[in-house]
Amino acid sequence: MQLIDGKALAKKVQDSVSTGVEQLKQEKNIVPGLAVLLIGDDPASHSYVKMKAKACEKVGFYSITHNMPDTISQDEIIATIEMMNNNPRIDGILVQLPLPKHVDTDKILEVIDPTKDVDGFHPYNVGRLVTGLDGFVACTPLGVMKMFEEYNIDLKSKDVCVVGASNIVGKPMASLLLNAEATVTVTHIFTKDLKTHTSKADIVVVGVGVPGLIKEDMVKDGAIVIDIGINRREDGSLVGDVDFANVSAKCSYITPVPGGVGPMTIAMLLSNTLKAAKGRI
Ligand code: NAD
Repeated sequence: MQLIDGKALAKKVQDSVSTGVEQLKQEKNIVPGLAVLLIGDDPASHSYVKMKAKACEKVGFYSITHNMPDTISQDEIIATIEMMNNNPRIDGILVQLPLPKHVDTDKILEVIDPTKDVDGFHPYNVGRLVTGLDGFVACTPLGVMKMFEEYNIDLKSKDVCVVGASNIVGKPMASLLLNAEATVTVTHIFTKDLKTHTSKADIVVVGVGVPGLIKEDMVKDGAIVIDIGINRREDGSLVGDVDFANVSAKCSYITPVPGGVGPMTIAMLLSNTLKAAKGRI
């Protein structure tokens, strides 16, 4: 069994983004800029945004965080996004999810200029992904694809089972795998018999938010298992959606939690923001 080291790969991606930023500064006098909208007091969101801001600083981006109370109106959020759409120093706009209940998330995401949509959640970019066109792709699944590339894992004709079908994880993951010519099965909470699907797969990619959902008897010998889940235990430690201790013994490759997909998400956000800055007119 080989561990897929997301921490090391994320560092490699960040180093290449730093080099790209330096080049862009020298050649075009452009400093990539990222704006983050953080609404409410969700501790996990605050911690993610802090990590993102730190990563931006490290690679030499200009970054601003709009910290707003959860009582803020939808119109005020929209006005802030429009301001960022029109700000020439901002290349990427990220709205940290989840949003407060009174806010229509789909509506908010549609206000973001698709050329600044570094999270890849705007329907325009989702459409481009599904049709196999270039655009911005959601950072977490994009990070998983980068892992496959780094470890020379060929996806063509592989049977892949994606567990979880959210707009930000499972669905874009399935599209990327399909574009890479894998045979993709997408499963979710209403799937009748999850094990039937996972146990036939060459590769299992799971992102659901249920600790230990994927057990030893649900994967075949030699399978590749990618664990996107991040679940916080009572003692504060993090675990994924895979019963790592038992499943890892059967795998050819597996990602750990922490230190697997998590660090890749931030690295790909940096990479997407650099891409947006390179496209500045
Ligand atoms: P979500 O709640 O929006 O979606 C969960 C999906 O899992 C749904 O499609 C649901 O049908 C499915 N599901 C739930 N229980 C299931 C079960 N018992 N069997 C099969 N499918 C089931 O969640 P999300 O935003 O997609 O996040 C999923 C997980 O990924 C969470 O643990 C989250 O913390 C993690 N996540 C990690 C990163 C990262 O950077 N590594 C990024 C985003 C999300």
